[in-house]
Order: sequence, then C-alpha cells, then structure tokens
Amino acid sequence: MKALSYPALRRAVLEGATTFRAAVEEFLETIERRNPQLNALLEVYAEEAREAATQWDAAQRRGAPLPPLAGLVYVHKDNIAYANHRLSAASRILEGFVAPYSATAVERLQAAGAICIGRANCDEFAMGSSNENSAYGPVQHPFLEGYVPGGSSGGSAAAVAAGFCHLALGSDTGGSIRQPAAFCGLYGLKPTYGRISRYGLIAYASSFDQIGPIARTLEELILAYTHMAGFDPRDATSAQRPVEPYTPSPPPRRWGWLTAAGLSPLIEEALQNLYKTLSDAGYEVETIDFPYWDYLVPTYYILTTAEASSNLARYDGVRYGYRAQNAASLAELYARSRSEGFGREVKRRILLGTFVLSSGYYEAYYTKAQKVRRLLYNFTEDLFSRYDVLLIPTSATPPFRLQEKTTDPIQMYLSDLFTVYANLTGHPALQVPLSGTPLPVGVQILGPLFAENRLFAAAYALGDLGVCPTAFVGTGVA
Ligand code: GLN
Repeated sequence: MKALSYPALRRAVLEGATTFRAAVEEFLETIERRNPQLNALLEVYAEEAREAATQWDAAQRRGAPLPPLAGLVYVHKDNIAYANHRLSAASRILEGFVAPYSATAVERLQAAGAICIGRANCDEFAMGSSNENSAYGPVQHPFLEGYVPGGSSGGSAAAVAAGFCHLALGSDTGGSIRQPAAFCGLYGLKPTYGRISRYGLIAYASSFDQIGPIARTLEELILAYTHMAGFDPRDATSAQRPVEPYTPSPPPRRWGWLTAAGLSPLIEEALQNLYKTLSDAGYEVETIDFPYWDYLVPTYYILTTAEASSNLARYDGVRYGYRAQNAASLAELYARSRSEGFGREVKRRILLGTFVLSSGYYEAYYTKAQKVRRLLYNFTEDLFSRYDVLLIPTSATPPFRLQEKTTDPIQMYLSDLFTVYANLTGHPALQVPLSGTPLPVGVQILGPLFAENRLFAAAYALGDLGVCPTAFVGTGVA
C-alpha cells in the first residue's frame, strides 16, 4: 500500500479510519526494508517517532485540538541541526558531534507537531551534485538502480521518493534541493534568500545557502514552507517581511522562457511539450535571450568556494568532532585533523577558495565575480518587470549513473548550470516534476523576491494543464 500524503492522513485520522502511529509504523517498515540498499538515512529515530505519533493519537482521541502539522513525518538533512541528535554534514570531521540546539526550521516544524524520523545522508558539507561525496557512502537512486539520486540533498530526496516520510528538509546553495528533487520526481523549493532562517544550518556558502522542503505533493511542500518561513532574530540575514499564507489564486499570465543549448534529447522534448501546452492554453510564453550562461558556473564556484574556505576554517580538530591522535604540536594537530577529517571534494574547494581570496588574485577573481553577481541580479530584476515568472530547466540531463562523473569535477560542476542562477540572485525557485516522461524530468519556476506564493499558483496552473502532478501520484516506487 502507498503511504497517504499528510493532508489525506490527517483527514483519515480525524475520521478514525487510521492512526498517526500506524503511519509511522508503515514508514519504519519501508525504511527497514529499503534503507540498507539506498543508504538515504544515516540514522533512524524509530522510538522517538513512535512515541510522538502515539501522543498525537492520544490527543486526537481526547478531542484536543491538533496543531497544524501533527503527525507529519519528516527527515532532516545531516547539515541541519536537531537538538541532542548527531550532526555530521556527512563528514568525518564532525564525527561524534551532537547538536546542542535545533535549527529554527526544525524547531518550527516540531512546534507545529511534525515528527522527525531520521537524519538524511548528503554530500559532505553539501558540496556535490550526486551524493557521492558523503563520508558515509553514496545514496542510490530510489527507483533507478545504479543511478545517483542527485545531490547534495540526495538522501533527503531519496527518502521522500522511497516512502520513508512525508517530507524532507534540504539545503540549497546552488541547486541541492531542486536537482535531487528533479532526479527523484519530486517538488523542491529554494526559497528567497532570507525567507527561512539559516540558524542551525551548517554553513557552506552563507550568502547562497537556504533551507527548504522536498515533498511529493505541492500541498505538503507549501504546508512545510509556510510553517518554517519568517523572521528569526537569530539569523542576521533573515528577512523581516511577514509570510502570507498561500490561498489559491489566479495563475500568472506572462511566462518568460529561459533555456540554453546542450539539453539531453529527453529533457528537450519534455520542455518543448511544456512550452506548447502552455501557449496552447493561452498563456503568454516568451523566449528570453539570456547572455550570461557562460558566467553562471564560474561565478558561482568562485564565490561559494571563497565563502566555504572561510566557513570551514572553524573545523580545526580543537572545537568540534574529529581530532588527529598523537600530534606533536598545535600546527600539526590542525593540519592532520583537517587532512584526515575532510574528504577530497571539500579539500579541493578550500584550496580553490583560498586561491581566489589570495592577495594576488582577489581582484581578478573574487571582486570580479561579485560584480557579475550584481549584474545578474539587476538583469533578473529587470526581467521581472516584464514577466510574472520564469521557466528554466532544472537539469540538462536526467539522473546519471553512479561514478559517471566522479572522475571529472568540471563535468560535475557544469551540471549545476540551471540551478546556481537563483542562488546567485537570491530569487525563489520551485522545482516541479513533469508528468509522463520515461525518466524523471523537472522544470523550475522562478519568481520575484518573496513571491513564493506566485510560484505555487504557477505550479497549480501547470497541474491543471496535466503537466505535473497536483495530488499524490507516487513515483513508481515498488
Ligand atoms: N552542486 C552544487 C555544488 O556542489 C550545489 C550544492 C548545494 O546546493 N549545496 O556546490
């Protein structure tokens, strides 16, 4: 039997047809059966989840009012803190570290009654696009054997698609929510920068990072987003702007269409169909001439590695986690702890970041990249004076094979072309899975700053046209 979506489960519980505990048991059974092969979860909080569900069932029987997310089951990515639970960013350097507090996003979900069932595998420090950079082994695609689930929130996406939970938290610095969601046939949201607090998120590149939800249905994604979003005094970059609840609203009219050469034929065809369906339905869809494709990936990797090299300086073997044994001096302790604790990709990025920030190259790389970032922002703001939303592919290819790109980091970086854009400019981007394609294909809807609700209305409009699922349809999981 397929697990019910959260709204359906809640209704069924209120009608007395099932219990939250039964739903948790079903998730646990699926986890037990499939996680050893998928490696999507690094830890399962079975007893805690059972207890929490039992309490909500008791509250329901007493007739106590249920909080809005009571019994919604989720997993947190291994770089988002959940108090008194382990947190490692899938890195050896944080081996044994226990989070002393919860991320604001987690705290808000818990306060609304949600139940955390486990900690999801990911790329080390969220650096990667295939979930092959985890110190705890790669995650397998949930229904294409031998393929990657995408990254870096690959464990989060695989967990949702495999039916381990209703929802997953991911983090997105350059596509890490949207690309794995696309690879696994799910919805994923990278909110506007500042919309969801980063407090309790292990920093990769702080001016890019955002926490966001991954779900099978828009309804679940919106529910989770609405409860997590909003000002948090503990994050200095958190936006003051109030969060408007989503209410069904008329779809946007003017759609800008942004795409580049080099899409795989399957993606090209799916997007052409989408274009045609939209224009046939009377929407104004216009292709935009976008002159900056070649600059996106280099700008992104210069700025994020610069920020990462600084953010990761705190892992010194003294303050957290892993410490090298028998070091003869403090300098050796630092050097060995970092050499032994960090994986290859993380080291590569620390080196790149320190290089672009070094005094001889700072102006040529870092300052230049900052200027390109501003240019992109201005260009995009201008686009939103002419278009209500933009449509952009999520990935140029469908899921690829395990190890297909591990020997060529440049190829791996280039696969981020379409997702890094929204993090460079800070705009919100919603990944929408397309229906009826032989392999998972996704498209992103981008909107003006803080216009998340408009993205949801646009996605529902696509659903009404039969282009993407509007209700729970499953993802082909056995
Ligand atoms: N794949 C991109 C990278 O490796 C994005 C990662 C992310 O969003 N965390 O940097």
